[in-house]
Amino acid sequence: MVEAERSHKEVVVEYSGSRLRVDVDEKGFYVCPLCGALFTSPRDLVSHVIGHALGLPDARRASPERL
Ligand SMILES: [Zn+2]
Repeated sequence: MVEAERSHKEVVVEYSGSRLRVDVDEKGFYVCPLCGALFTSPRDLVSHVIGHALGLPDARRASPERL
């Protein structure tokens, strides 16, 4: 799953018909384009970004989720 890539690469995550272009860092974490929080799966990132859109206070500074 994690391949040897230089620093960042970019992936497109689709969710409910919306497309988000996000960076993936060298460790394979998905990077929130709004606040830089790291997520292990695109699904977690998408729900986090939706939190931004809804103005949820705890979405502003989230740590990597471990589920
Ligand atoms: Zn964020």
